[in-house]
Amino acid sequence: MKIVVQKFGGTSVATSEGRAKAIERVIHAKGQGYSPVVVVSAMGRRGEPYATDTLIDLVKAIHSEIEPRELDLLISCGEIISTVVMATSLKSAGHPAVALTGGQAGICTDGNFGNAQIVEIDPAPIKKYLSQGKIVIVAGFQGVSQDGSTTTLGRGGSDTTATALGAALGAEVVEIYTDVDGVMTSDPRLVPDAAIMKDISYKEICEMAYQGAKVIHPRAVEAAMNGKVPIKIKNTFSDAEGTLIAENVAERVITGLAHLTNISQIKVGPLAGDAVQMAKVRVLKTMAEAKISIDMIGVAPNSIFFIINGDDTSKALEALMKAGYSSNVETGCAKLSVIGAGMEGVPGVMADVMESLDQAGVTVLQTSDSDITISFLIKEADLTKAIQILYRSFNLGAQ
Ligand code: ADP
Ligand code: MG
Repeated sequence: MKIVVQKFGGTSVATSEGRAKAIERVIHAKGQGYSPVVVVSAMGRRGEPYATDTLIDLVKAIHSEIEPRELDLLISCGEIISTVVMATSLKSAGHPAVALTGGQAGICTDGNFGNAQIVEIDPAPIKKYLSQGKIVIVAGFQGVSQDGSTTTLGRGGSDTTATALGAALGAEVVEIYTDVDGVMTSDPRLVPDAAIMKDISYKEICEMAYQGAKVIHPRAVEAAMNGKVPIKIKNTFSDAEGTLIAENVAERVITGLAHLTNISQIKVGPLAGDAVQMAKVRVLKTMAEAKISIDMIGVAPNSIFFIINGDDTSKALEALMKAGYSSNVETGCAKLSVIGAGMEGVPGVMADVMESLDQAGVTVLQTSDSDITISFLIKEADLTKAIQILYRSFNLGAQ
């Protein structure tokens, strides 16, 4: 049995036009001899009747507090509705189909409501339906915990449902359908003519996704990589070839750019006295106790600095103040990352980026680097300019 997993995101299933295109793609795969397993997201965004955020608003209008377990049960409904709509459409077009919740599809998770991790997938239920010649439609973004509670996997979780199913079922490929022609060398909202990549390695797309490229969820890439299943990112609405995500892809020094916005930079200091080192440790522990995740940590003789999500700013400042530290904050920052598996060991990339940013008049507040990524903290107001200048200086339009 040749299995293909096809995932249709919220952007694809929101409209009847998108759903018709999705159905066409499923029927086409079946015609090519594949057994399709289809993963769907909820239909549309906040305001539309069955969107996840609309469901949350519905209950929050009654009571502001909702238990995580009930919240998960509620927000799992959007995807379930989509499965029934898709299965019914397929059946009416003459193709036997069955709609399954994540739990019915054998997806077992831990009990971490709102951000559950898949621990195991039993392939038997899906395989049973496939062997009966049915197209299986699975609700994305959800599973069931050991005690039988419905759990959800967090934003972007349907991508993970698709790749984890692909790995568990031994699929030939996982196709992620969305509203763009593939993975682009930078965010198309900031570089409207961004080039589409023919292929990209798991490692690079995973890093791009962690650094803010929303086109696929990083956890989904990890699941595919562990299961050695290739991913294809394709456009529901066009016949573009799309982007192949696989293991052996030629390395480029710079593959692409990604960014995160709404970031605050916190600087704690001046720290003085014999116990400076201990004070830095206590600052880090203070953030950990407040459950604030920090990044781009830098240490100077008399200070320590790092970045946090902007939403955590007041919580962080309060915790530091309570612990007796004075700090400065720079809100409205963005983290711009340059990613490329071929930059490892290539000297001068950091200098080249700094030079381009300097010529464009962009002030760099802080930098950090890892093996395949260098990141720059800049003001959010400079982001579009910075991305466009790097896109040009590194010739990212030529793929
Ligand atoms: P879906 O509902 O299909 O999951 P998403 O909105 O989650 O769709 O992801 C697709 C979006 O990701 C695109 O519309 C695009 O604006 C955005 N995006 C950000 N960075 C990139 C990139 N490097 N390549 C392609 N798309 C990107
Ligand atoms: Mg998505």
